[in-house]
Amino acid sequence: MNIILLGPPGAGKGTQARRLVEERGMIQLSTGDMLREARTSGTELGKRVAAIMDAGELVTDEIVIGLIEERLEKDKGAGFIFDGFPRTLAQADALGDLLAKHHANLAAVIELRVDDDELVRRITARSTCAKCGEVYNDITRPIPEDGKCVVCGGTEFKRRADDNEESLRTRLMEYYKKTSPLIGYYYAKGKLHSVNGLNDIDRVAADIAAILD
Ligand code: AMP
Repeated sequence: MNIILLGPPGAGKGTQARRLVEERGMIQLSTGDMLREARTSGTELGKRVAAIMDAGELVTDEIVIGLIEERLEKDKGAGFIFDGFPRTLAQADALGDLLAKHHANLAAVIELRVDDDELVRRITARSTCAKCGEVYNDITRPIPEDGKCVVCGGTEFKRRADDNEESLRTRLMEYYKKTSPLIGYYYAKGKLHSVNGLNDIDRVAADIAAILD
């Protein structure tokens, strides 16, 4: 089963994708994570996209489609969670073609709905464990007092370079201009399901599970 998690930055796509990986053994394909990995490994691709990402703009369709294509080849036949992809209509069309090529289908597109004020509140307070990527929030889910990650015991935490108010404004506008048209695109295909992303993590996970089951 292949699904797309759709929603603005901070809606909880990554958090819910991680739950689905743990609970259902699906494979999370996050283009954001792939691009961040390319940056830290210092590849030519990483250097090319670094400034674009920090500014909160979208990298080219060609680059992200290429990344997804590679991963679909590598993990043939697995159940994928597309997290942060597609983000444009061209990417959505390309994904449709790629899935058809692999004789795979799209089971559902789950839209996580969260209003802008909450997104700003979440993102400017967000940090992650450097070792396992577990997400913390200064207000709602602070790093434990002993300074150890609850999942892996890691002691280093980092904030994303683009998790600041200025980049976030651009990221939100990119979402509304280029990504939100996908809501209509998938609705018309009969694939769209919307979930209230303002609820707590467990409730959102339960709502997603109800859709998938
Ligand atoms: P994310 O981790 O999904 O918030 O993505 C972080 C950044 O990576 C975005 O602000 C974009 O610069 C870039 N990015 C990630 N996925 C895509 C995509 N599908 N298309 C274009 N740019 C992307």
